[in-house]
Amino acid sequence: MSAPSKATNARAVFLGAPGAGKGTQAKQASASAQLAHISTGDMLRHEVTLGTALGLQAKSFMDAGKLVPDAVIIGMVQERIRKPDAKSAWILDGFPRTLPQAEALDKSLSAASAVTHVIYFAVPEQVLFGRLTGRRTCSKCGAIWHVETKPTKLAGVCDLCGGSTVQRSDDHPEKISKRLEEYRTLTAPLLAYYKNRKLLREIDANRSPAVVFKELLELMQ
Ligand SMILES: [Zn+2]
Repeated sequence: MSAPSKATNARAVFLGAPGAGKGTQAKQASASAQLAHISTGDMLRHEVTLGTALGLQAKSFMDAGKLVPDAVIIGMVQERIRKPDAKSAWILDGFPRTLPQAEALDKSLSAASAVTHVIYFAVPEQVLFGRLTGRRTCSKCGAIWHVETKPTKLAGVCDLCGGSTVQRSDDHPEKISKRLEEYRTLTAPLLAYYKNRKLLREIDANRSPAVVFKELLELMQ
C-alpha cells in the first residue's frame, strides 16, 4: 500500500552523486507530496533534443563528461521556479552542484520562498560505479532502467513507451570516474554550507528504493 498523498510546502534540494538514486526519489516524492520536480539534467537534455542554442552549448560539456557552467544553469532554474506550479513547493534535483550555485540560488529566493530541506543521498563510490555502468535511459520518455537490477522486458526497448533505451554518453565507464571525482570536489563544500545552515539531512541510499523513499517522506514532513 502506498502512503496517502499529502501536499507539503517543502522546498527541497536533493544532493547526491550521479547514480545515488536522487532522480528516482525526486520523481516519486513530487508525485506523492505534490511538489514540482525540477530536474536540471532533464531540462538540459530536453534543450539538447530540441537543438536550441542552450542545448548545443550544454551538449559540448556533457559529452566531455563535464558539468555545464553555473551561469547557464542558474538562468534556467530561476526561470523555472517562477512558473505557477512551482510557486510554493518544489524539489531541485541536480542543482545546486557548486557552492556559487547554492549562493546564487539563495540570493534569488525571498525569505518566504527559501530552501526548507536539503537531503543528501549517500552511497559508497564502488556501488555508484556499478549502478552507472548498467544504467540505460529511454530516449523517448526519459525512464531509467538498469541491465541487471531493473531490466526492460525486451533488451533496448522501453517497457513504458516502446522507445529505444540507450546508454547516455556520460554513463560510459571512462566518463564515470571523471564525473564522480568532479562531483566529490565540487559538492563537498556544498554539504558543509548546508550543514552550517542546519538544513542538511543525510539518508543512507545504499538500500532499496522503497526503504529510502519511506525515510525520505518522514524527513520531508
Ligand atoms: Zn520510454
